[in-house]
Amino acid sequence: MPSTTFAALGVPAAVASRLEQRGITTPFPIQAATLPDALAGRDVCGKAPTGSGKTLAFGIPLVTRTSKAQPRHPRGLVLVPTRELANQVSEELIALAGPKGARVMTVFGGVGFGGQIQALRRGVDILVACPGRLADLVRQGEVRLDAVEVVVLDEADRMADMGFLPEVRRLLDTVRPDRQTLLFSATLDGDVDVLIRHYQKQPVRHEIAVEQDAPQNRHVFWRAERSERLELTIPVVNAEWPAIVFTRTKHGADRLAKQLNKSGVASVAIHGDRSQAQRERALAAFTNGKAQVLVATDVAARGIHVDAVACVVHYDPPADEKDYTHRSGRTGRAGAAGVVLSLIAMEQHKGVKLMQRKLGLPVGIDHPDMATFSTAGARPTPPVLAQEPTPTHAPRQHRPSAPSTQQRPRRPQVQGRGKAPSRRGGR
Ligand code: ADP
Ligand code: MG
Repeated sequence: MPSTTFAALGVPAAVASRLEQRGITTPFPIQAATLPDALAGRDVCGKAPTGSGKTLAFGIPLVTRTSKAQPRHPRGLVLVPTRELANQVSEELIALAGPKGARVMTVFGGVGFGGQIQALRRGVDILVACPGRLADLVRQGEVRLDAVEVVVLDEADRMADMGFLPEVRRLLDTVRPDRQTLLFSATLDGDVDVLIRHYQKQPVRHEIAVEQDAPQNRHVFWRAERSERLELTIPVVNAEWPAIVFTRTKHGADRLAKQLNKSGVASVAIHGDRSQAQRERALAAFTNGKAQVLVATDVAARGIHVDAVACVVHYDPPADEKDYTHRSGRTGRAGAAGVVLSLIAMEQHKGVKLMQRKLGLPVGIDHPDMATFSTAGARPTPPVLAQEPTPTHAPRQHRPSAPSTQQRPRRPQVQGRGKAPSRRGGR
């Protein structure tokens, strides 16, 4: 398909020029496919892999098609599975809407009700919400959804996996029936299909093949018993960072972050038991390069969109091939190449080979070989080890001897920050 422009897809000039200021000039495939229908007011369901640009695909119609809201009666609603995703989506919407545009607010649990209630009373045009907290606020009478004109269900498959569907359905039942509903998901079958059938009106379906999920990524599988994993991970994340390392449990995440810090690898952990502030600090340390490794559990990592992650390590195995793809999609985002390493114990070999077959990857598990990772020439100097007693907190000070930006070949960026100096396009 020849590349098009946002303007040619019907995006208003003001929005297109704000995108251009951030270096976003060429629509990604899912955006080119869905924007004309979504901007025309049709229901759309879009299936596309992680990192394919779904946020703009719904964000542009949302800021374009919602009007000014009365207090406690938002006009636009985005339902998301995690608080991190809520923050990232709202940052993107704020950037899209511009300084005089829609008032956007996030609503999620783990923080006080006061600020959210106050803002709702002043008036919020577009609400980005996790289902549980939004349902609480609806029950308290602080917000009503009967004026919502556009609903977005983002990462619908993840909301289903996390058990949010009953709540999502109850919420959608209170939205006016003549609204527009946009649904985005990595899969459109099973529970998500039920949502589509019940809550969308003759939706236009657009699917972007999973093969586009960072086809440039390298997938490496090593034989490693549990006790060998730490020693194997250290040189890998020193060669390829920023890196996200996945563990199965919250406890495992904390322990590994501690062990890595002890070994001189600046690391932070993120998982569901951390407070919102702790999670944000950890994510900030990772995105600004003070920590070279983010240790995460599956649930905590959902919705974390950090660009330029060089490497993903499956320290504990993923639950299934869907989780493998989701975890691995944290690297290789927006067209850059990444490495995905899995550490496989003997008793997991059979299951892993089955998964490799399902995913169309070469079948086999290799003996560890660091040569796989020795990038010819300059190897970046990793950040200085954080001197804090608790490795799961973001290091507060930056040592003067920390590497300069030039030494760092890549610097991760959270999406949606208008300040980001360069965005990679060219897909
Ligand atoms: P998804 O929700 O599909 O996982 P995102 O919406 O988070 O993907 O987008 C992934 C990254 O790609 C973000 O950093 C985003 O800013 C960037 N991006 C999205 N669309 C474009 C585009 N058309 N050109 C350049 N970068 C883009
Ligand atoms: Mg997304």
